[in-house]
Amino acid sequence: MNAVADNRAQAPEELDALIIGAGVSGLYQLYCLRRLGLQAVIYEAGGGVGGTWYWNRYPGARFDSESYSYIYSFSRELLEEWDWSEHYSAQPENERYLNFVADRFELRPHIRCNARVQSARFDDDANRWRIETADGRCAQARFLISAVGILSAHHMPDIPGIEDFAGQSFHTARWPHEPVDFSGKRVGVIGTGATAIQLIPHVAEQCGELTVFQRTANYACPLRNSTITPAEQRQIKDDYEAVFARCRRTFAAFMQEFDPRRTFDVPPAERRAFYEAIWSQPGFTKWFGAFHDIMTDPAANEEYAEFVREKIRERVHDPVTAELLVPRDHPFGAKRIPLETGYYETFNRPNVRLVDVKSAPIERVTANGVQTTAAHYDLDVIIYATGFDAITGELTRMDIRGADGRSIADAWADGPQTYLTLQTAGFPNLFIINGAVFCNFTRCAEVVAEWVRDCVAWMGARGYARIEASPAAELAWTEHAEKLTEGMLFTKTDSWFMGSNVKGKKRTFLFYAGGAPAFREKIAEVAARGYEGFEFGR
Ligand code: NAP
Repeated sequence: MNAVADNRAQAPEELDALIIGAGVSGLYQLYCLRRLGLQAVIYEAGGGVGGTWYWNRYPGARFDSESYSYIYSFSRELLEEWDWSEHYSAQPENERYLNFVADRFELRPHIRCNARVQSARFDDDANRWRIETADGRCAQARFLISAVGILSAHHMPDIPGIEDFAGQSFHTARWPHEPVDFSGKRVGVIGTGATAIQLIPHVAEQCGELTVFQRTANYACPLRNSTITPAEQRQIKDDYEAVFARCRRTFAAFMQEFDPRRTFDVPPAERRAFYEAIWSQPGFTKWFGAFHDIMTDPAANEEYAEFVREKIRERVHDPVTAELLVPRDHPFGAKRIPLETGYYETFNRPNVRLVDVKSAPIERVTANGVQTTAAHYDLDVIIYATGFDAITGELTRMDIRGADGRSIADAWADGPQTYLTLQTAGFPNLFIINGAVFCNFTRCAEVVAEWVRDCVAWMGARGYARIEASPAAELAWTEHAEKLTEGMLFTKTDSWFMGSNVKGKKRTFLFYAGGAPAFREKIAEVAARGYEGFEFGR
């Protein structure tokens, strides 16, 4: 018998809850449910825990929100025990942190690695999910909880000939565990999003020649990372409550708050000084600390965008390259702002060239490089920094079927339909945690995992075996969420926020745009009203 058939022949694992994914949200959900006394287990596709920080191990990968705003807040002991070495810590440390959490709270025995969930079917009579992994392992669980994150399903572009390439190739989100030796090699990077912008300076230093294939320039802003001194470490630990309180107040649960003034209410010289002041700050202050109306008023946005363009031009020696690196086709912040360290200076290096694949698109990948409509570029290595089928992709790639046998891919063909981002009508007992709130990941993951824990406990106390979003509540929420995006500059630009980076995907703003505080308030209110909008069964 082969391994799959062998696994299928085993009795299914019987569970109260099966959580998909051992990343930031899955680990905490596991902790919450086990504390409730449930037989809860994580099935994780990867070979280890960490989710995003397990898979995205490309050179240069690091947090770009403050390490201490991304940390779990639920345990004072954990906050005391963990020291971040940098204000924006790098992937190896982030992965170590999540492993530390898994061990510290004895979660590891309840995590099955290399267990990629392939299908899940809801048994309408038994009120249980039947789950199967790619290697034939089976489980049955009352609750199925998707903690797959928002940027998990990596996206390969549909460029012809990708399989023909004879050299090495990597997608950044499937980076190998062993170091890649770039020395002396001709490396091509396709993409210039937040990932590529972190990666490119590192590869440029290590390789022979680097060719960057850019289709759309981005407004990358300086990260301004630094190490954390012992004195700062103590201060951070003493200030944790204030950090979390601040994150609770802000729109996207980051530490920065938009300035409440309107751009043109501030005199020009004062505006300029303000732009310079936020520019000199670390992290997302240049975005989330700007005047609030840059996200809604095109004129306010354009003035600030021009300031950022000037900053880019100042750093690039060759004026032609500088102009190519200056974004002009979308407003500042309408796509996710990448934070960088030495990105623009990389294009001053003699071994780096920028190729504009907007004016001369990539036609195909050949056995030995990349062919654009203008030229062929000989390469030994191709790096695809081409992003993700975000938010919905990981779930719709699984064969998840609800009460009437309909797949989640079908249910979401016209964009994700959910109630509170947490459930989809027709898929009882399936919770989608941290699905789609525009929010600092850990801050919202904790809130949602606790909401699910409390809901499950509430059901247990009342003898309910089944929870399902009502179609009416789902429709009302979806309409409310859509209305919130009116007037937002996000919706006018193509990006993964809109699903438009993936061919055939419905173009819609994939996040809940009401802000983290409103989201928290809403889900708490729903719970306080006996989980209004959900239908329960025994
Ligand atoms: P991305 O922002 O979607 O960027 C993908 C890049 O690939 C874009 O430059 C895109 O060009 C290009 N591309 C795709 N198909 C192409 C084709 N056929 N030909 C040429 N270029 C092509 O993906 P990402 O950089 O991986 O970032 C995704 C998200 O991950 C970020 O926005 C961020 O939220 C997250 N992230 C977080 C961190 C962090 O927290 N530290 C770090 C990295 C990433 P177009 O723009 O023209 O489509």
